[in-house]
Amino acid sequence: MRSFPRSGIRELMDLAWSTPGVIHLEVGEPDFATPDHVLDAAARAAAEGYTKYTPNAGIPEVRETLAAKVTTHNGFDTAPENIVVTVGAVNALYHTVMVLCEPGDAVLIPDPAWPNYEIMAMAAGVRPVRYPLDPAAGFVPGWEALEVAAATPGAKAVIMNSPGNPTGAVWDRSTVERFVEVAQRHGLWVISDEAYEDIVFEGPHVSPATIAGRERVVSVFTMSKSYAMTGWRVGYAVAPREVATAMANLSEAVIACVPGITQKAAQAAVEGDQGCVAEMRDAYQRRRDLVSDRLEAADMLVARPRGAFYVLADVSAAAEDGYDLCRRLVTEHGVATAPGETFGLSGAGMIRLSLAASDEDVRTGVDRVVEAMAAV
Ligand code: PLP
Repeated sequence: MRSFPRSGIRELMDLAWSTPGVIHLEVGEPDFATPDHVLDAAARAAAEGYTKYTPNAGIPEVRETLAAKVTTHNGFDTAPENIVVTVGAVNALYHTVMVLCEPGDAVLIPDPAWPNYEIMAMAAGVRPVRYPLDPAAGFVPGWEALEVAAATPGAKAVIMNSPGNPTGAVWDRSTVERFVEVAQRHGLWVISDEAYEDIVFEGPHVSPATIAGRERVVSVFTMSKSYAMTGWRVGYAVAPREVATAMANLSEAVIACVPGITQKAAQAAVEGDQGCVAEMRDAYQRRRDLVSDRLEAADMLVARPRGAFYVLADVSAAAEDGYDLCRRLVTEHGVATAPGETFGLSGAGMIRLSLAASDEDVRTGVDRVVEAMAAV
């Protein structure tokens, strides 16, 4: 674990927090407060005694609520036995990799992608193998390269992430179908990270489990982004029963269980009025337009995101590497962003701007980036 690459996002965050007056566009954390009805449910749960250990796979009525949500909202039939409640999507993803792969196997990861996939694979003793996303085609897989990666000896699973971080890509049904077909032909499991399922501007969001049935798909969801609940640490996996059982067994060894109070808060979030989700999505969309328009005018827009809350800017005109550029953007221009290289080799020449900041910060932040680049 000493050899884990350090997250470039964290590095920039640390530098930015020690530099006064910096605008923070480096982190992927909603700037909204958790909705009041969720806070109330948590307080009620505490008063009602949800303060003890809970079952490894989650509280039965919470699993029921989540199964009903997946069936109606994501469009594939599932039962409470298929749901494992976890400590956020991170925990669901890691346990999925642990259950599906033996040490020495390979897991395929998009490039560019959220950096945690790679360190998760390393932590599980599994080889991370990248498959490229094609920017010119809206960050769908480079199909030929995906075939090559899928044929890697020992490959067991392939991760997909739509809506995507950092790309903002939302794969349409034909793309998801083609992706699932490749995975199935090579005998790979699809691990589908759907953390941004509700932050979609041009959609719809398509779950691969709606295409393949559930035989070889594990779908991962979270409260973090949809309900501004990053710190509550509740997510869940939807998996075939045998996999779900193994994941719950692993939970006993690693986390024992997810706190009852936060599970009840998650249940309230899913069962409550979904107006808060739409409000936040609208705000992200407004900021998406603001940032994309500004970057486009400066000829720096990589692709207008269709979902999630990030925009990639083309900074290939700068001579230095992304880390140096991002450090200089903090210290000389007062804006923190994430270097593209932290998302994979293909991220070179790009930086990621997060839309999870106030409209005013987003506007000033993108101005600072554009002005800095105009000076190189
Ligand atoms: N998946 C992606 C693609 C993310 O960007 C993030 C957080 O940034 C997560 C998962 C983590 O979600 P959670 O807070 O539920 O662990």
